[in-house]
Amino acid sequence: MTKQMIRVYQHLDFEDVKAHTLEYGALSGICSKCKSLDVKLDMFSCPKCGTHFKYISFQNVREHLPKILRIQEERHDVHFLDYQDYKRIEGELRARSILG
Ligand SMILES: [Zn+2]
Repeated sequence: MTKQMIRVYQHLDFEDVKAHTLEYGALSGICSKCKSLDVKLDMFSCPKCGTHFKYISFQNVREHLPKILRIQEERHDVHFLDYQDYKRIEGELRARSILG
């Protein structure tokens, strides 16, 4: 068996994504629902609003690849989102809501 990381595309409900994502930067994360800062990668839910993290989106995937592999082994219920996709859709929906 030769395991490699390959991006897989899924059709997801962005409202669900927006409410259950841990956005992870260089050293800490942000809850997508309440924007709480300093969320740790090993937290299954937000310490402030309690939302369960179904998705994790890393700003820099290459830098965090070992962490992704570890989390995937430990947590089979979590999905990894491409950060560019996530931010692009978020921006498009925001622009659409502003323009009406
Ligand atoms: Zn939160």
